[in-house]
Amino acid sequence: MAVTVSTIAPPLPALQSDWAVRAQADPFLLADIARAVRGPFHVIEPGRFGGNLAAFKDALRAAGVDGQIYYGKKANKAGAWLSECVRYDGGIDIASEPELIHALAHGVRGEDIVVTGAAKATGLLWLASRHHCLIAIDNLDELDRLIGLRLPVRILLRVLPEVNPHSRFGLDREQLSSAVDRCVQAMDTVTMEGFAFHLDGYRVQPRAELADRLIDTCVAARASGLAATSISIGGGFACSYVDPEDWQRFRDEYRDDWFHAEMRFAKFYPYYQSPIGAGMLTAILDRVGRRFATTSTRLLCEPGRALLDQAGFSVFPVHGFKQRGDHGVITVGGLSMSVSEQWKGSEFLPDPILWQADSAGGAEPVTAFVGGASCMEYDVLTWRKITFPRPPRYGDLLIYPNTAGYQMDKNESEFHQLPLPPKVRVHECDGRYTWEFDAY
Ligand SMILES: *Cc1c(COP(=O)(O)O)cnc(C)c1O
Repeated sequence: MAVTVSTIAPPLPALQSDWAVRAQADPFLLADIARAVRGPFHVIEPGRFGGNLAAFKDALRAAGVDGQIYYGKKANKAGAWLSECVRYDGGIDIASEPELIHALAHGVRGEDIVVTGAAKATGLLWLASRHHCLIAIDNLDELDRLIGLRLPVRILLRVLPEVNPHSRFGLDREQLSSAVDRCVQAMDTVTMEGFAFHLDGYRVQPRAELADRLIDTCVAARASGLAATSISIGGGFACSYVDPEDWQRFRDEYRDDWFHAEMRFAKFYPYYQSPIGAGMLTAILDRVGRRFATTSTRLLCEPGRALLDQAGFSVFPVHGFKQRGDHGVITVGGLSMSVSEQWKGSEFLPDPILWQADSAGGAEPVTAFVGGASCMEYDVLTWRKITFPRPPRYGDLLIYPNTAGYQMDKNESEFHQLPLPPKVRVHECDGRYTWEFDAY
């Protein structure tokens, strides 16, 4: 083979949880599901989501801070997460009418739902008010429309963060002060429960600083007779997908020719981070927990990706393999929309895994990028040339690990009239597996 070593990227093996490793090690499970589905599918483990949610709740409890964890629902559409929220007494963060109805249908109570998102339709405001949801107000005319419903409403005022002045979300300083005035005037129907923000990036410091400042704003609002019990610090809790050494090496040695056709990317998700998940909430509470506790302010947060960490992986059937210059191309059944990072001008970097690749003894390793089943040149699941232990062949399965957070269904479509990949929930009992489709 005419492969020159320099054009091949070092491996970025994905971190995987025990349940996923065991499910992938079972000799039959994935092949059985693949035979039934006859296309790509997503494997999910709601118990892992429940564990992540419980860890967030524990972080609040350990800091002696009251509050609520709302699952940022846009990160994955499966119904199974909603039942876990009910089980662990969590809430849901929604931004559309269908998301609200879905949460209610799974038994999530309106009082445990927060409605975020920009300028919301009056129909959504009405339905959310009927169910006593908490509504994060994003602009003044929206507040007027909500007050105009003449229903009892619970609201937060969403703040435009100074560290992110170009954001299209939230109220600037002047708008915020007008909004507070209107809440005071409309106190007969409006319960103003506090303030909210949602920051880009995954850093502890800006979240702790803004929360600290808003505690003062809350205390001042209480002096005007408003409830102002709570601050939502939004989402953006970090996750790690790979080991720190592998990530550092990837960044240090980075070359464009690691990618098919020298594809260039401006930016990648930081696939290794610290602290992550509930540990990041603890780090925030280490800085401002005491102030929340001493002012009896509740801390609300809206993690999406972090609750889904290690709660699922995606499986694609291999449709073919061929050489293309010094490397190969694997074509899979399914589309790159099932790996949403590919639709943000970026790449999902943890290495895909060829299932049961060790089964053919004596075969030579190959390097290949991974294309989807559509007729688009840019329908590529992985541009990076990945080394596989043997040439993939028709009927093999290719696993993308840890995809539940945003990768699975954010961008999926029925392009080419292909059905959307189902989500399959697996159960293990005494080393044996059963599985079922995720119900709406
Ligand atoms: C998307 C979103 C979240 C969830 O963000 P993650 O990065 O997945 O934690 C939370 N709150 C708001 C307002 C959002 O728009």
